[in-house]
Amino acid sequence: IIASQLVLAENMSTSWRDIAGLQSTIRELRDTVIVPIQARRKHSSQLIRPPKGVLLHGPPGCGKTLLARAVAKEAGCRFINLDVSLLTDKWYGESQKLAGAVFSLATKIQPCIIFIDEVDSFLRVRSSGDHEATAMMKAQFLQQWDGLATDQDALVLVMAATNRPLDVDRAILRRLPASFYIKPPGEREREAILKLILKGESLADDIDLKYIAQHTNSFSGSDLKELCRHAAVYRLRSPDDDLSGSEGEGEEDVYKSAPSSSDDILP
Ligand code: ATP
Repeated sequence: IIASQLVLAENMSTSWRDIAGLQSTIRELRDTVIVPIQARRKHSSQLIRPPKGVLLHGPPGCGKTLLARAVAKEAGCRFINLDVSLLTDKWYGESQKLAGAVFSLATKIQPCIIFIDEVDSFLRVRSSGDHEATAMMKAQFLQQWDGLATDQDALVLVMAATNRPLDVDRAILRRLPASFYIKPPGEREREAILKLILKGESLADDIDLKYIAQHTNSFSGSDLKELCRHAAVYRLRSPDDDLSGSEGEGEEDVYKSAPSSSDDILP
């Protein structure tokens, strides 16, 4: 019951094709994680295993969750999204059951990836002392995680993501030996992300994705998606709503009127 409240076994539809840029990270994830998982099905060697855990770190909105989902899909794994935001005091009393439930579910549906987003906030023991249950849950969780290493047949991998790698608990970090920095997109990657987001959309002839990519210097992939969403909704506005008319900017100019300095359009 607890597991059903805290985890979500997702229907996997994200693949490499949904990710623009990040080619070298994709290559490394393929070699480190996917190849061993796939080979494990054919070879009996106990040495052929993916790492015990994988950490994806980097600024928000740059594709960490997207990558974790795509790894699961490409490796043919189930995906459990462990929602740590639901780990409130209300659940602490049930801590031991939770740790057991997550790993036994994962083992049952293996091969499986347990994804922990915002791992820096996960199982952090606060100093106030009234969180004994948190400490217990952490101990249980780590014990179950270690148990996977001794279970030769279990094909369960923990993938974690964070924007604050320095705040991740050391005991958790040790269990995430493969670490990947997911960097913000450069100009070429931003253009590729825009292309992907706008695939299948009808665009005005004068929309220049290269120009937009040049002028969105600090935008993440998530910011670019939001920008496109704004532009799409902007076009639906009736002319009466157009308060910017007094400044001489028409609807068609939504992209072309971008400020010349990217500093002016920070996300
Ligand atoms: P957070 O740290 O806030 O959880 P994140 O790094 O996990 O962020 P994602 O959730 O993977 O970011 O990305 C958010 C959205 O931004 C994606 O659903 C996708 O639409 C878009 N996006 C980000 N990066 C890329 C990319 N490289 N290619 C295509 N789309 C991207």
